[in-house]
Amino acid sequence: MLAGDYLKAAHDLNLPMVGIGMLWRHDYTEQFVGEDGWPYDIYPNYDYDFVKDTGITITVQVEGRDVTCKVRLVDQYGNVPLYLLDTNFPGSEHGWITNKLYGGGTHERIAQEILLGIGGVRLLRALNIDVDVYHFNEGHAVLAGCELIREKMEQGKSFEDAWETTRRQVVFTTHTPVEAGNEKHSHGELQQMGAYNGLNYDQMATLGGDPFNMTEAALRLCTVANAVSNLHGHTARSMWRHVADTGPIISITNGVHLPTWQSPEINRAFEAGQDIWKPHMKAKMELIEFARQHTDANLNPEALLVGFARRAAGYKRSDLIFRDSEMIDPLLQQGKIQLVFSGKAHPNDEEGKRIIRDLVKMDQKYKDAVVFLENYNMEIARLLIRGCDVWLNNPVRPLEASGTSGMKAAMNGVLNLSVVDGWVGEGPQHGVSGWLLDVHHQHVDPQQQNMNDLQALYKVLTNEVIPTFYDDRSRWMDMMRASIDMSHYKFSSTRMIREYYELMYRRVMENRAAVTAPWMIPSRMQQEPRPYQQ
Ligand SMILES: *Cc1c(COP(=O)(O)O)cnc(C)c1O
Repeated sequence: MLAGDYLKAAHDLNLPMVGIGMLWRHDYTEQFVGEDGWPYDIYPNYDYDFVKDTGITITVQVEGRDVTCKVRLVDQYGNVPLYLLDTNFPGSEHGWITNKLYGGGTHERIAQEILLGIGGVRLLRALNIDVDVYHFNEGHAVLAGCELIREKMEQGKSFEDAWETTRRQVVFTTHTPVEAGNEKHSHGELQQMGAYNGLNYDQMATLGGDPFNMTEAALRLCTVANAVSNLHGHTARSMWRHVADTGPIISITNGVHLPTWQSPEINRAFEAGQDIWKPHMKAKMELIEFARQHTDANLNPEALLVGFARRAAGYKRSDLIFRDSEMIDPLLQQGKIQLVFSGKAHPNDEEGKRIIRDLVKMDQKYKDAVVFLENYNMEIARLLIRGCDVWLNNPVRPLEASGTSGMKAAMNGVLNLSVVDGWVGEGPQHGVSGWLLDVHHQHVDPQQQNMNDLQALYKVLTNEVIPTFYDDRSRWMDMMRASIDMSHYKFSSTRMIREYYELMYRRVMENRAAVTAPWMIPSRMQQEPRPYQQ
């Protein structure tokens, strides 16, 4: 989602950029809920009509065998072509590599990473694209660094020289403090798969340690790295403190593509200073209608509607609000609040699937007050982040690196009700443009966080959110406007990409050793989230 919004912003600003990715034959997963309430995955065979064949192929070696990849092209972003590597075509014996995003074990995974990283660089050479800056979006792409080193060694450079020169061409974004998001591989498996790509054990271990950590290697292969919010910057710097020889980690907060996510009617009304309740109600009715068609639930347009849509990962705590049934039951029974959920679990994540099963149980228990929409995708996301009144976010701190769905909600006047983590540390102000559930992420253990957050959630819901919604509509609308005002530039992908340019790409192009220009906003990096009065 983020990479897509980023490419759209690059297109809007007419930047000279190309994107490189993979063409997943079966996409990620389509996930539905079975009769027994348990989510199951299906993998339709997509015809990607809009994807063109460039006629160009490149070759990488996997397990000692040549693998031919077609280079496909998505050209709907005009000046920003997106090239997709594809091994899934008639006659190919390696279709398995680009079959499924989360298809298999480490064997498939490493093959995919060879294709993306090493194949990605070869694709640029095959297309004769002259590159100033390589941007590794998460550790998955890190083998591109190994390919850049190999190329230089082939021209006679030493490993050290090749590494140093490569480092000056690369920037890196780290996206998550969650353990599973920072992949490690055994050297045995990397070598056997062909990921060494001409380097030896000592060289690979110098880059990524043993076991080979993709994030560590990327940090050692870049001029500068970034975390995706100010708070995540603090977390990432402390998390990787023990790793020597890395580029510095700065913060560039994520942003979302406003024309994709903000309702045009809300936009028009906001810009013209007109009533935004009407376009808000229109978006709410569209969501309610969608829910009725897909679940038979009759949501009440006059009652408060709280939305929560996330990947179903444990740390996001989708079920937190249900954990004290004596508090939540009367609110749901009386129709004071209605909850609408959506989300997919990672296909191999049992815990995530349990979370969905539990949400589905709540949907069945509170027929017209709780709704779970299956198969979370962009269409459902768009309906939700436009059509709810409130957007709930309560991950375990400090695990949410940024979070972007709350930004999408904010720019539609859907008010965030959130713990302070990720982007929220620099976003909504309590009682002005949303509601915050804690002061600043102190290092409180998760058990204690569950208790604190649950209490704070009910307190703010019953003392502030519910009374404002039902008794003070004009204040609510002021808050909606404040939310749009706070978010529509600050959390746009336009702002994000400008910062990437100013703080990272320029630094590579000018080949500077240190950040010097005053507008490079060191204060932004030091900024602590503002305190608030609850
Ligand atoms: C925005 C979006 C996401 C990412 O949301 P986060 O809050 O950053 O987790 C995921 N899936 C879909 C369909 C989205 O629209």
